[in-house]
Amino acid sequence: MNPLYEGKAKRLWATEDPNVLRMEFKNDATAFNGEKKAQFENKGRLNNAISTLIYGFLEKEGVPTHFVRQIDETNVEVKKVDILMVEVIIRNFSAGSFCKRTGIEEGRQFSQPIIEFCIKSDELGDPLVNDDYIRELALATADELAFLRQSALKVNQILIDFFAKCGLKLVDFKLEFGRLAADPATIVLADEISPDGCRLWDLKTGEKMDKDRFRRDLGNVMEAYAEVLERVKEATA
Ligand code: UDP
Repeated sequence: MNPLYEGKAKRLWATEDPNVLRMEFKNDATAFNGEKKAQFENKGRLNNAISTLIYGFLEKEGVPTHFVRQIDETNVEVKKVDILMVEVIIRNFSAGSFCKRTGIEEGRQFSQPIIEFCIKSDELGDPLVNDDYIRELALATADELAFLRQSALKVNQILIDFFAKCGLKLVDFKLEFGRLAADPATIVLADEISPDGCRLWDLKTGEKMDKDRFRRDLGNVMEAYAEVLERVKEATA
């Protein structure tokens, strides 16, 4: 059997239900648009555990998501969606490509969250786009775009508070959304929420607890992910 889709960190498999897929978390890590690659034992397991707990928490807080249930250590069932080809990035503090683009130092707190949209395209390197590009490229309708903004801000507020309980600062993160295959008028949060797609800094020490440890060769990558999982477990217990 072949996966329906294989991405950099996950595979999607069909199930008996045409509206449900199995999402498998891989141990592969990539950075800089796939230029830097590595394998980390346990990464799939850790990200699945973290993402499952966070999705459960978001659902409880009233955020509709693709999540159905955890199957095992590296697999979950998700509702089948048509992923929007626009990624949503939310920033609370300056880091990463924001610093590169503006020359501003890392760690500056913004007065309000910054929302960015990027085209989901490895080939193009996920270029930053604005509302007019999204309209002309038909990546989302005006109504959908308004919904993405509103949902992203809501998820951001929930996660800022949630990670604060974990002793972590939510610096920035990426969200993906999809139209339900069974009901394309409904958009839900999709993909994963894990240290692969979030910048998380320890509130006390400022230590990086996310994929920047891999991007910047800081070492102890999986130790940091495991620590995030422990704190997320405590916060959801
Ligand atoms: N991000 C992601 N996937 C992407 C691009 C960004 O998960 O394809 C996440 C990244 O981990 C960070 C946030 O989105 O938490 C903002 O990333 P940034 O634009 O600074 O990109 P970077 O240059 O760091 O990949």
